[in-house]
Amino acid sequence: MSRYLSSRLAALDAYTPGEQPRDMQYIKLNTNESPFPPSPLVLQKVSEAEVSRLNLYPDPEATALRGKLAGLYGVKPENVFVSNGSDDILNFAFMAFCDKEHGAAFADITYGFYPVYGDLYGIDCKVIPLKEDFTLDPMDYHGLGRMVVIANPNAPTGLSISEADIRGILESNPDNVVLIDEAYVDFGGRSVCPLINEYDNLLVVQTYSKSRSMAGARLGFAFGSPELIADLNLIKYSTNPYNINRLTLIAGEAAIDSNDYFVDNSKKIIEAREYAAAELRRLGFAVTDSKANFLFAKSDLIGGEELYLELKKRGILVRHFSKERIKDFNRITVGTMEQMEKFIAAVAEILETRNQ
Ligand code: PMP
Repeated sequence: MSRYLSSRLAALDAYTPGEQPRDMQYIKLNTNESPFPPSPLVLQKVSEAEVSRLNLYPDPEATALRGKLAGLYGVKPENVFVSNGSDDILNFAFMAFCDKEHGAAFADITYGFYPVYGDLYGIDCKVIPLKEDFTLDPMDYHGLGRMVVIANPNAPTGLSISEADIRGILESNPDNVVLIDEAYVDFGGRSVCPLINEYDNLLVVQTYSKSRSMAGARLGFAFGSPELIADLNLIKYSTNPYNINRLTLIAGEAAIDSNDYFVDNSKKIIEAREYAAAELRRLGFAVTDSKANFLFAKSDLIGGEELYLELKKRGILVRHFSKERIKDFNRITVGTMEQMEKFIAAVAEILETRNQ
């Protein structure tokens, strides 16, 4: 770090993205991407003609894209905010709704970026431990008087909470934003987007990065009351009004126009998830009841880090976290059925070799 860096940032512990090694071709089950390419319509629409218009700025209001998202989710365009990945929206939310006096609250085991935003803005963050089995007690979030952030389904556990639980949290925190991060909702969860018409403190955040096979395009979206969306726009127009590039806008619209493609792919992922979960259990693993595109599993037969390293040697990348409470686990992104068969075969072989 240089001597010019603000002292405000000196102690910042930045987020560590999953590794992207280039030394060999891995089966990549470590960053929760989709194994499928974007829809054929996306490939068709991101055309040479579109590339040739890159001399022009994109529509800062993303009018067409917001219109399509509003149509698909049954809300109004003024309820929709879009940005450069959902990380960008989470960042905006921490910036907009928290400060030194107004804190945030989230679970101890959840998306690792929440505490980073908290640190970045000097926010007092209440970190609430999940129960022993990684389930979340909604009562822990009642009447907190600070912004509540819940990933639903949660990462890396894959566990979800019910709409009734979310209602309770919204009603007991009427003066604070409740942000529900639905990055993984399309793999068997249910969005609380319709509740934005009942609760003006609800912000629902989703992404094109997982179910819609567009992690590389960087596109996230959020639903909320027009007032909350205006707050996010205040930040956007104070930082980077052209926060989504032209090609991503086109790709995002085409993905909505070919919605069946992603629905079909999500079904394939769910099928591969259930297969891999059953096989891991057969091999003696404890596996959480994931409703996401990843599994969270541990075995008494092999340590989390050891399994991660053995898989890596065999060309399969999974995500291991060194945090004490979850260090025995690995998070395994669900790929294609073929990839999951290879993964299971590798795990079985690793366990067998160890027992000899
Ligand atoms: N929320 C959660 C819970 C995530 O796991 C991720 C992916 N790392 C994100 C948000 C951010 O996704 P993106 O910025 O690609 O939309």
